[in-house]
Parts: sequence; structure tokens; C-alpha cells
Amino acid sequence: MNDEHVRAVDPAVAEALSGEVDRQEGTLAMIASENHASEAVLEAQGSVLTNKYAEGYPGSRYYAGCEYADEVETLAIERARDLWGAEHVNVQPHSGTQANMAVYLAMLEPGDRILSLELNHGGHLSHGHPANFAGQLFEVEQYQVDAETGYIDYEALAEKADAFDPDIVVSGYSAYPRAVDWERIQAVADDVGAYHLADIAHITGLVAAGVHPSPVGIADFVTGSTHKTIRAGRGGIVMTSDEHAKAIDNAVFPGAQGGPLMHNIAGKAVGFKEALQPEFTEYAEQVVSNARTLADTFANHGLDVVSGGTDTHLVLVDLRESHPDLSGGTAEEALERTGIVLNANTVPGETRSPFDPSGIRAGTAALTTRGFENPEIREVGEHIVRVLDSPEDEGVIGEVGDRVTELCAAHPLYR
Ligand SMILES: *Cc1c(COP(=O)(O)O)cnc(C)c1O
Repeated sequence: MNDEHVRAVDPAVAEALSGEVDRQEGTLAMIASENHASEAVLEAQGSVLTNKYAEGYPGSRYYAGCEYADEVETLAIERARDLWGAEHVNVQPHSGTQANMAVYLAMLEPGDRILSLELNHGGHLSHGHPANFAGQLFEVEQYQVDAETGYIDYEALAEKADAFDPDIVVSGYSAYPRAVDWERIQAVADDVGAYHLADIAHITGLVAAGVHPSPVGIADFVTGSTHKTIRAGRGGIVMTSDEHAKAIDNAVFPGAQGGPLMHNIAGKAVGFKEALQPEFTEYAEQVVSNARTLADTFANHGLDVVSGGTDTHLVLVDLRESHPDLSGGTAEEALERTGIVLNANTVPGETRSPFDPSGIRAGTAALTTRGFENPEIREVGEHIVRVLDSPEDEGVIGEVGDRVTELCAAHPLYR
């Protein structure tokens, strides 16, 4: 990729950047929250809009010279409305966490109560972990997945809601492979007079393409990320009804953030335009089909796939039965040596530590972007199983690594 100006000014950073291009080109990105944005999105993100202050919203800014910023943000908003069908969209959150912060700031007072899924069961830090602002400002109670089935325990969730009387119920997860029943969670929230925030950060693209049920129009608030299953560059988004539009806009700016990252909003606009093309639906369908193939491949080789499969882009494997002596962290390290990059993950009923948990999580969004279809995914799944079986066998690591290099070369990204 073109880096002549960086190279002239700062060879050290240029080296790191070209190293990162080579790393993405030459390894299999199976971290479920990652993807590869197009060069069009990268160009927009790398544009002169990084220079522009545009505090406020289109047509009502605190600074002069915002006509092009207005154009870009308006396009991003219109396209987002087309993609998700929300009455109101705010495209300014710097990240998914900032989007969640805006919802909490808009609707809650410090000390109010959040009911959310436990982190070990697939929740997210921004849903109320003690190390995150959400856990520090609010009182948090957590629900779980059924440790047997791996599905959300909706009945236990309803009981928790009755007992805890939350002000907001948070759904939407980081490591949950199954479709979420938004109506059922909305009903729980309604019963206890709580708001419902559906955080679709992982499945933003799947929902846009209609391959996962949408919470838009059901949940009071829907937040998302723009860089996971949709390839619109790093950022967040909040969607809501006209009723809460003003509160959300005020909570994003000036509540939670200063000036919007207009270059990122340009990336969002371009990525949303790409996602409005019919090919994006095919892409999202292939992502899910690939994840199902990966889950089947694992299950056929005796791995314990949490919930028995997947409806999304991700597969969660509990290693405890098949590989009792192998931690997720050791598995991650061995796989990384072959160029298969995924992450260790906690599993329902976790018995190791969050820092070296019992599972691995693998996603198919990035591999599908580079053109992997079911046969290649099956092969990758088989390589993963081989490495899990022999994480210290240099012969296996070398063979799988060579094959990963070939697969990458056959499916170039930015070359
Ligand atoms: C990834 C993720 C987010 C957003 O994370 P950022 O890194 O702040 O963009 C929010 N919620 C969930 C459930 C996620 O998985």
C-alpha cells in the first residue's frame, strides 16, 4: 500500500505499517471481532477530514467550514437508516463502547441498575464490568447462559429482572454464537419497566444484511460497531426511535465525546454504501455458512462446540472435554505460530482464569472477506484441530504454517 509520505517522515512507523500489511496479508484473521476494510474505506478514513472540527450535527455545528463534513455525515446517516431501518441514527460514537456510554448517559442516573450478561458467558466490558466505567457508575446484576445448552437462559433472565428491578436490560454479546430472541428480552424489560439496549456490535453487518433477526423497532436502543461484521472502519453507532433522538444526540455530544472523528464517519459512509450493494447480502450469508461449516468440522472431530453450533459468524469451543490439559491461551499461541490468529475465550461455567481460559473463539467474517468459501474453511478447521491435538509438534506447526501461507497467497487482500 502507498506509504511514501510516512516513509519519508518516519521510517520506523512506515516499517511497522508495512509489517502490519504483510501480517494481515499472510495470516488468517479469525478473531471474531476483526475484518478487513476495503481500500475505499481506508482512503476515506485516511482523508483530510481528520483536520476538521465539526462539533454538533449536520446543519448545526459550533464551527465554520462544515459544509463537506455535513455532506459526509448526512450520507452516513441516510445509508445507516437504509441499512437498519431505524428512525434515528447517530454515527458519531468513536467506538461501540462510546455508543453504549451514550445510551447509559442519556437514560440513567449514576447508581441506576443495569442487568446484563456475565462477561464469562459472552458479555462485554461496557455492559457493567467493575473495571469499566459502566461497572463503576452503575449497580450491575448479571444473567447467564444455560451451562448445559449454551443458550441464553431466558427464564432465569426474567427471574433476575423481577428480583433486581433494573433500569435497563442489556442484550447483545461478544461471544454468543446463537441468534438472540430480542422480543423475549424486550418483554422481560417491559415487565419490569426497564429500557432495553440491544448491543449488536458483533452482528451489525449480519443484521444489516438480514441474516440475523433485527432488534431495530423492538429494543428501545440499538448500538453497534462498524468494523466487525460490517466493513465500514473502526467506530460505533446508536439507533433509536424519534422519541429518544434528542437525548441520544445530546449524550453522544456534548455528553460523552468532543468533536466527531469526521474521517471515521467518512469511512462509515463509504462502508455503508458498500453494504447496501446486493453482494453484501451474499457476503453475510457466506459468513454464516462458513461459520456453520467451521462448527461442523470441529464437532466432527470431537470438539465441544458451545451450543452445538452457530447462527452467526462465530464459533466458541470448550476445550475441557476434548483437550483437558490444553488451555485456550496455549492453543492460541500454538495456532498463532502457524499463522492462524484467533483468541482464547472464556466459556460458560469457566473453571480456569479469564487470562488463560478454557476455550477458543473463532470467527469467519475476515476470511470470508478474502474469498474463503466452505471447502477452504473446512480445511482451516481441520488444521486447527491438528494443532490443538499436537500444539508442541514442530512438524505439525510447520506443515500447517506452510499451508496457511499458500491459502493466504491464493486469497490476496490488498495486493
Ligand atoms: C466489540 C463490542 C463492543 C464495542 O467495542 P469497541 O472496542 O468499544 O468498539 C461493544 N459491545 C460488544 C458486545 C462487543 O462485542
